[in-house]
Amino acid sequence: MSKLLLIPTPIGNMEDITLRALRMLREADFILAEDTRTSAHLLKHHGIDKRCISFHIHNEHQILENIISRIEAGENAALISDAGTPGISDPGFLLARECIRRNIAIECLPGPTAFVPALINSGLPCDRFCFEGFLPHKKGRVTRIAELAKEERTMIFYESPHRVLKTLEQFATAFGNSRRASVSRELTKIYEETIRGTLEELVTIFKQKNTKGEIVIVVGGLM
Ligand code: SAM
Repeated sequence: MSKLLLIPTPIGNMEDITLRALRMLREADFILAEDTRTSAHLLKHHGIDKRCISFHIHNEHQILENIISRIEAGENAALISDAGTPGISDPGFLLARECIRRNIAIECLPGPTAFVPALINSGLPCDRFCFEGFLPHKKGRVTRIAELAKEERTMIFYESPHRVLKTLEQFATAFGNSRRASVSRELTKIYEETIRGTLEELVTIFKQKNTKGEIVIVVGGLM
């Protein structure tokens, strides 16, 4: 039976891809990729000689029907994003939901995603956590943060490097200076680091830094 495969790809280190993911990419009838150039580089690195079809937030609605028709006609589709697991702050949800609605099998392989290593590296409780992804940039941002002030689970946020200080300051205001948190940067890459402390300490540290790279912020829940 044909299906949609959602295949996690490395978040930095090219070796972080499973043997099954590579086999599935080799065997797929077609590969949908968020940025075809980024994915071509990954496929080439692993000796997979296949062209990718562009699939991103700006065209996913338009090409959905065509993808579904091809799977219904018997082809296996593989979906990859630029990094990590498709659907996690990346395209994938829309296509997966439509496949499920049309009784098309889907399978998401386990594999890389940035929030799991960030959570574990934080040293904060990982028995219960919530993934908040990216906060809204403008409208609704302050309200969303205020709503989370009473959250008891560890919270995980994706953030861009130029907004990290502002976000830590907003968290300190809403959650209190003494709330524990961590900032993981460039996970799995050469300059990987995780900085832990209270929100007040992190604000002081990030005021002195010109932060670059990819960032995950983890904040302890209300005790
Ligand atoms: N699909 C990805 C996943 O499964 O984690 C997330 C894609 S989202 C567009 C990109 C964000 O993920 C970045 O802005 C950053 O917050 C986080 N991220 C991705 N790779 C990372 C890395 N190597 N180190 C730290 N954060 C990372």
